[in-house]
Amino acid sequence: MIQANYHIHSNFCDGKNTLEEMVQAAIKAGLTSIGLTGHMPLPFENDWTIQTGDLDRYFAEVKRLIDLYQDQIEIYKSLEVDYFMDRHSISEQAKGFLNELDYVIMSIHTIKSLDVDPIYYIDESRENFAEAISRFYSGNSQDFIKEYYQAIGHMVTAYQPEILGHLDLIKKFNQDHFFFDDQESWYKELVTACLDRIAATKTMIEINTGADMRVPGVGRYPSDWIIPEMKKREIPITIGGDTHYDTGIAFLFDAAENYLLECGYTEYWMLKNGRWETQPLGV
Ligand SMILES: [Zn+2]
Ligand SMILES: [Zn+2]
Repeated sequence: MIQANYHIHSNFCDGKNTLEEMVQAAIKAGLTSIGLTGHMPLPFENDWTIQTGDLDRYFAEVKRLIDLYQDQIEIYKSLEVDYFMDRHSISEQAKGFLNELDYVIMSIHTIKSLDVDPIYYIDESRENFAEAISRFYSGNSQDFIKEYYQAIGHMVTAYQPEILGHLDLIKKFNQDHFFFDDQESWYKELVTACLDRIAATKTMIEINTGADMRVPGVGRYPSDWIIPEMKKREIPITIGGDTHYDTGIAFLFDAAENYLLECGYTEYWMLKNGRWETQPLGV
C-alpha cells in the first residue's frame, strides 16, 4: 500500500478543505508521510494560489499541524511553484522561498506570456487553452507542445526541484485527440527527449493520480505509455494525489501501485525523518 502523498492542496489555495482536514484524512487513509503543497503566489492577480498576504499564516498552520500530529504522521512543508515559459524562470518571490521548504514541486500551468490579460492556462478549460494556442501559436498545438516540453526540460535542469509536477498536464483537455495525437511519433520523441533531460538530474517525477477526480477519463500524469520509458531511464518517482478534496487523499493509489509494478518499478521515494528514502511497492 502506498503510504505517501506529496501533492496536497487546501483552502489556502484552490483546495476545498482545510489543511487540518487533509492531514486527518491522510491519517485515516493509513498514510505515514505527506507533504502540504499550496500553490505559491503568482506575480499577477489570480484566485487559485495562496495570496502573498496569507503565506505567513500558511506556514504557521503547517508548523502547528506538524507538531500536533507528530505521533501519527510525518508532515512536510512544501509549495507547488510555477515556472513561466516566456521568462524561462520561476518568480523572484518563489526563489526566496526555495531554501525554506522541505522540498518543492515545480510545475507549469500558464501558457506563454504573463503580460496579457487574461492569463491563459493549460489546465483551466479546453476553450481557454484553445484560445491561447490560436493567439500565440497560430492555432498550431504542436508548436506549443514542443515549447512546453523544452520548458519542462529547462526548468528541471536549471532548478533541479525535488519533484516535477504533472509532466503531461497538456493532455487534460485532449479528449478525442482534440489538440494532438499522443501516439504520433513527433509527440513521443518530444516526451522521451524530455525524459532524457530529466534523467540527467536528481529530480523525481510524480505519479499524479488526482486528475481523474476532476476531469473523469484523463487518467494519470504521466500517461501509461510514458512510465516504462521512465523506468528504462531509472527516473525516480514519488506519489502525488494533486489532492484538492479530503475524500481524494489516496485517490486511485492502488491502481497506480499495480500499474507501476507492471512496468517494473519496485519502489518509490518517501520522506522519512526528513530524508528521502526508497519504499517498496506492493507491500
Ligand atoms: Zn499543478
Ligand atoms: Zn497541484
